[in-house]
Amino acid sequence: MSDHKVYYNYIGGEWVPARSGKTYENRNPADTRDVIGIFPDSGAEDIADAVAAAKEAYNAWRLVPAPKRGELLYRASQILQERKEQYANDMTREMGKVLAETRGDVQEAIDMGYFMAGEGRRLYGVTTPSELPNKFQMSVRQPLGVCGLITPWNFPMAIPSWKIFPALICGNTVVIKPAEDTPLSTYNFVQALVDAGLPKGVVNIVSGHGPTAGEPLVQHPDVKVISFTGSTEVGRHVSTLCAQQGKHVSLEMGGKNPMIIMDDADLDLVLAGAVWGAFGTTGQRCTATSRIIAHRAIVDELTSRIQAEAKTIQVGNGLVDGMQMGPSINQGQLSVVEKYVKIGREEGAELVLGGERLTDGDLGHGFFHQPTIFGNVKRNMRIAQEEIFGPVVSIIPVDSLEEAIDVANDVPYGLSSSIYTRNVNNAFIAMRDLYTGIVYVNAPTIGAEIHLPFGGTKGTGNGKREGGTQVLDTYSEWKSLYVDY
Ligand code: NAP
Repeated sequence: MSDHKVYYNYIGGEWVPARSGKTYENRNPADTRDVIGIFPDSGAEDIADAVAAAKEAYNAWRLVPAPKRGELLYRASQILQERKEQYANDMTREMGKVLAETRGDVQEAIDMGYFMAGEGRRLYGVTTPSELPNKFQMSVRQPLGVCGLITPWNFPMAIPSWKIFPALICGNTVVIKPAEDTPLSTYNFVQALVDAGLPKGVVNIVSGHGPTAGEPLVQHPDVKVISFTGSTEVGRHVSTLCAQQGKHVSLEMGGKNPMIIMDDADLDLVLAGAVWGAFGTTGQRCTATSRIIAHRAIVDELTSRIQAEAKTIQVGNGLVDGMQMGPSINQGQLSVVEKYVKIGREEGAELVLGGERLTDGDLGHGFFHQPTIFGNVKRNMRIAQEEIFGPVVSIIPVDSLEEAIDVANDVPYGLSSSIYTRNVNNAFIAMRDLYTGIVYVNAPTIGAEIHLPFGGTKGTGNGKREGGTQVLDTYSEWKSLYVDY
């Protein structure tokens, strides 16, 4: 059943194998008999080649007028648009999320390309009046050089696009190391850039494993910026390595996102949002709703309605019509889910739904797990504190808005949060007091648009943001210019 192909790294405008000749197989998480492709298992020498190519290309690319750089990005987005269906299909096969979601992933990359193409015609600087006569002063953005980009598997085209497009529009060149589980989608993205006519060496992709390919990229002295999205544990390690070299670093890491449901909320609206927020992408979103903090007056009704709705979720291969939830990405992630289900049971939370791996028929060839709900969860239980990154949600009863916000903020992460209420005062208090990078009112914790800054507080980030025009600060530095006349 496999229809697989051998892929190479893209370095300096050439498709080349890993210098060592080593490769690895990428398999479909919905059916591990299906080999997606054979990819280079690259090492430090491949990274060094890619960085050298990017460094050389930087000399010319930084001098290409920004609007012209933007035109190439625009063309790449048009190509992505033309190939959207094919790339979404590849992504579902490679990553497991259902087709409606992978179409959304490709669309996010398209949107980011158009948005950043426009920035090529802005990239505004600032003029500031001088204290002195006959002096003109201004500040302009300047690029930094070679950017090293390290990405996770859950948004394998959108997240690379959030990094590559702004890096390029600012005049940098890039080397990307995609997640080992989803290289194909990032290869597809790079292919669209190549076909748009990007000059050789401006974008380079090197596949492989984190410690053997990712870490040499972080440590290479000619890499001036690292942008990392992934787990908090690896992100902190990357951050330490960057600090040793005084390197710019942007970190986007884990989440434990709360959804507050007040007693005046529209429960029909909540139902759709809670089920989508918790089980969309099999719960494998950094913004996934993993805690439902519900007012005690409605918690029983809410719990039984969510249970009934989540029971109807069709779990299976995302390429099959009607499927709503795919597999975990790999055996390791599935084991994490099973581990936390066991922990939840041992902690005394009430298992309201699910709790088991799915193995019937063809499902046994993939990493499928039931949508799982724990009720009556206490705020300090491990299932309410630690990121699970799977289809598991905890319902925590509370007695007031004040308590709800306190519980919401009482975790080591701060990416996204939401509140459902019909009371405008509650909404504004929550928008003010929830300490997260993103707050939704009457919507789930997922669904961010990249035209706004994206990122989180505490263990989620390091103060940088992806998206919006704020992302330009990661990929450029301010230079102040004084002219006496
Ligand atoms: P991960 O294990 O931290 O991996 C992320 C990337 O880092 C992968 O490309 C990985 O390579 C690489 N890597 C691993 N060890 C490395 C090292 N020593 N040096 C350099 N690179 C290394 O995370 P993941 O499992 O792919 O993704 C899930 C996590 O990402 C979750 O915690 C989720 O919340 C977070 N996430 C955050 C955001 C956000 O915007 N805040 C968005 C999406 C996901 P391999 O693939 O080879 O391991």
